[in-house]
Amino acid sequence: MEEFANGYAGRILTVDLSTGSVQETPTESYSPLFLGGRGIAAKIYWDQVPPDISPFDPENRLIFITGPVTATTGFCGSRWQVCGKSPLHDTFSYANLGGNWGAQLKRAGYDGLVVSGQAEGPVYLWITRDGVEIRRADHLSGQGAITCRETLKGELGKTVNVVAIGPAGENRVAFANLIADKNASGSGGLAAVMGAKNLKAIAVKGDRKVVPADAKRLLALKERSLAIMSGLDEEFVSGVIPFRDSNTLEKTSRDVCYSCAGHKCIRRNYRMDSGQKGKFMCASSYFYMVWANIHYGESTDVPFLAAQLCDDYGLDTHVMEPLLLWIVLCRDAGILTEEETGLPLSKLGSMEFIDALVKKISYREGIGDILAQGTQKAAKTLGREAQNLTGDFINRHDHRPFYGPRAYLTTGLFHAMEPRLAIQQLHEVVTVVMRWSLNEIHKPEKPGVTTPILRAIAERFWGSELAADFSTWEGKALAAAKIQDRQHAKESLILCDFNWPIMYSEATADHVGDPTLESQICSAVTGTEVDEEGLYRIGARVFNLQRAILIREGWQGRAGDALDEYEFSSPASQMEALGNPEALIPGKDGQTISRQGLVVDRKQFEEMKDEFYSLRGWDMKTGLQKKTTLEALDLADVAGTMEAEGFLA
Ligand code: SF4
Repeated sequence: MEEFANGYAGRILTVDLSTGSVQETPTESYSPLFLGGRGIAAKIYWDQVPPDISPFDPENRLIFITGPVTATTGFCGSRWQVCGKSPLHDTFSYANLGGNWGAQLKRAGYDGLVVSGQAEGPVYLWITRDGVEIRRADHLSGQGAITCRETLKGELGKTVNVVAIGPAGENRVAFANLIADKNASGSGGLAAVMGAKNLKAIAVKGDRKVVPADAKRLLALKERSLAIMSGLDEEFVSGVIPFRDSNTLEKTSRDVCYSCAGHKCIRRNYRMDSGQKGKFMCASSYFYMVWANIHYGESTDVPFLAAQLCDDYGLDTHVMEPLLLWIVLCRDAGILTEEETGLPLSKLGSMEFIDALVKKISYREGIGDILAQGTQKAAKTLGREAQNLTGDFINRHDHRPFYGPRAYLTTGLFHAMEPRLAIQQLHEVVTVVMRWSLNEIHKPEKPGVTTPILRAIAERFWGSELAADFSTWEGKALAAAKIQDRQHAKESLILCDFNWPIMYSEATADHVGDPTLESQICSAVTGTEVDEEGLYRIGARVFNLQRAILIREGWQGRAGDALDEYEFSSPASQMEALGNPEALIPGKDGQTISRQGLVVDRKQFEEMKDEFYSLRGWDMKTGLQKKTTLEALDLADVAGTMEAEGFLA
């Protein structure tokens, strides 16, 4: 079998749907500085997307990208990303998916695919080792994303992998999702961009093998990773998600993405009594569960069916979940009525209700056309009273404000600075602190993350022990910068968030994980030696490039680095600290403190920003980057454009 060495297929494919032209660019034009994944996607976006266009302009790009680890075995290397200007976030955004599609793209011979332009009618792309064909998709038009995927697999072969959009994407719903094999979903509204390009699906067939530069070293690293992960399992995560009852969990079984055997995560398959199966993880598992349980008075398959319906129509369940709560509040306030909306609002929780809602949004019928903008914009359309009802449970990105700074302080910068919910960055703080809080709450016989262990983890991963003392804002800006650098490097490699970084271990002497593993894996795969600091430097470069893109597209520097107002005024709720009802966190000198009922101190948050800008080498007053900072990160071309356009301090 033909092989690709050193982690890369070597080519990035570009397809212009307006002209039908196809080009190939050597991946090497980007990989030395930007590695892969988010890094390469951000550079392509910077080079090609004019800053002032609308997300639906043919000039917008959809960048489907893998990383050097994608399609290697044993490291959760299934991940791939889609980037572009999002109609939900009105700026550059990104989605991270698992499953098989990314690995197949690389095995077909491409590290990435860049789609520009707009086809005259519905088309799909068919990518194989022989190149790409643009094919008519009239027969797929209007199909659900899952239905379309299965139709294409029926036509092209079972081993083909497909990413597709449903009616929501075709009709440019702002929170439309892409759906790929294993129901891997990509959020951020990028399916609406696919719809605007008249691109219904992309089918890929890969038949080549991706081999690392140093297979022996990589195998040893796999064994080391598995050894220090041993004893950790997905039950920890399942146990802290309050909506997963044991009856439901009994109907699930583990499911894994491409070549991910041996690693642990919450990706599961749900099996209905009828035998129907599908993905069951994160928001798809719980977004309708509470409402359905109330409506039916017992646990049923309806939450699963509702999630499948959203996947097929292509709606983001992370957006649907708070949207439902807001609809209930609007119903109770008399703002939304059954007569005016045509929705069976009194039957919320039933299959009948979710079916009607999903279809109205996806086809943009009546009230659905308003809701299709996303909750915040829909509330604005309906008026002040409806806006007030978004309360403190929907953030400016239309998601729940998970893991916010009212409980975790450090995460304030992630919520303030990313164009979407920065789940990978948030997870780095909360997964380990949650392990600590479970220890505090349940006092198990076999202690997990104790306060001394958490402090040791904080020192090694976040720059100081103070980062694990949530009674003070000290050490949090440095921790945030370190997390951003690590996570942007991880998103460029790309390694799955469920297992990386390995921060806590039951197998090491001090119970601290190993932050050097990612750089060692990168070195073994690519054959280019990079150490831990070198990898973080790539992460810092990618983070700064993304910052430059956002600033150029209108992000207001320091003023733009803002939190939703309720973070300063509405006390921390149980929801914010999932699975940690009293918001228990570690304080000073081994004390346990509760952040329940507290808000973010505005002055201290602004002081954290001062410290952060200073650490980044940015201008403290404006939050804008400096020429010298960008040049030091090998971004002189970016600095030149930013300077010419007046976006530097
Ligand atoms: S850890 Fe889970 S979600 Fe991540 S790549 Fe592996 S199977 Fe997929």
